[in-house]
Amino acid sequence: MNVLVTGGAGYIGSACVQELIEQNHTVTVFDNLSEGHRAAVHPAANFVEGCLNQAEQSKDVVGRAAPEVVIHFAASALVEESMKVPGKYFGNNVANGLNLLNACVQAQVRKIVFSSTCATYGIPDRIPISEDTPQQPINPYGESKLIFEKMLRWFHEIHGLQYVAFRYFNACGATDRFGEHHRIETHLIPNVLKVALKQQTSCKIFGTDYPTTDGTCVRDYIHIKDLATAHILASQSNLNGCYNLGTGKGYSVREVIAACELLTGAKIAVEEHDRRPGDPPKLVAAPSQAINALNWHPEFIAIERIVDTAWQWHKAHPNGYPH
Ligand code: UDP
Repeated sequence: MNVLVTGGAGYIGSACVQELIEQNHTVTVFDNLSEGHRAAVHPAANFVEGCLNQAEQSKDVVGRAAPEVVIHFAASALVEESMKVPGKYFGNNVANGLNLLNACVQAQVRKIVFSSTCATYGIPDRIPISEDTPQQPINPYGESKLIFEKMLRWFHEIHGLQYVAFRYFNACGATDRFGEHHRIETHLIPNVLKVALKQQTSCKIFGTDYPTTDGTCVRDYIHIKDLATAHILASQSNLNGCYNLGTGKGYSVREVIAACELLTGAKIAVEEHDRRPGDPPKLVAAPSQAINALNWHPEFIAIERIVDTAWQWHKAHPNGYPH
């Protein structure tokens, strides 16, 4: 396949590009490097630096690459930030995404595969979360992704653009080349590993009074290699629709920290803080629809294995990417 990957210099995008290249596909990465890193672009991919806020440039880039499939990762993706600057989220995730959709129609792209999120569900009325759970986001991040899902449905109906939207649970882990390096790190696992690397003295637990077994939030941690595999299977399929991508297993914040302690042999000091705005207590996927429709089988289920891949990457790249 000839594939254009927006956000291919980012955390999940870089892992997906690696998998595409290893499966001998042709890849163009389109990324503005605001969150991504030039060094995270696989050397065998074509790279175009640019931003989807430029409608004409976006049409030009998609037209020149002439991909059969576009995989759309480029987005803003922090719940807490979205509660402070919602305009950034509706701008990047909705308005810029619309520029991409228009470019796809003009270039007669066959299919778009989109990074959606379990944050579209808000506080679900049942766990595990299946795709027919009502979508009632409780933060602008989730709302912006839900709006884009709805746009996809109409572009499919009216223009025939095929789409698969994947509602990710918590992306984590690393490949042998690419891992997690955010300029401002807010995510749980990299922050815990920074303590193990002695780059910070403690990590924070946001909320210890949730209605969960140990009072901390429960999340479904899905490895970026498993996410990458699902995107490629979806690209090769004629499916249309929205699918959860998770393992179906939930771990609390304290359980993740304990797994990191065990694996690294380091004592992880914690600071208990108030809840973080916009965080639901428990998000665990029912992943059977993706498993059945795509014949997708997540390889990394146990948190220890997932954290181990992240730990190997952070030890090898203690300062992340050079640029
Ligand atoms: N969390 C935490 N301390 C941190 C970062 C995150 O306790 O330093 C919690 C957060 O409140 C959430 C879970 O860990 O319940 C996963 O958060 P993360 O930011 O990794 O991913 P998100 O769920 O926001 O996509």
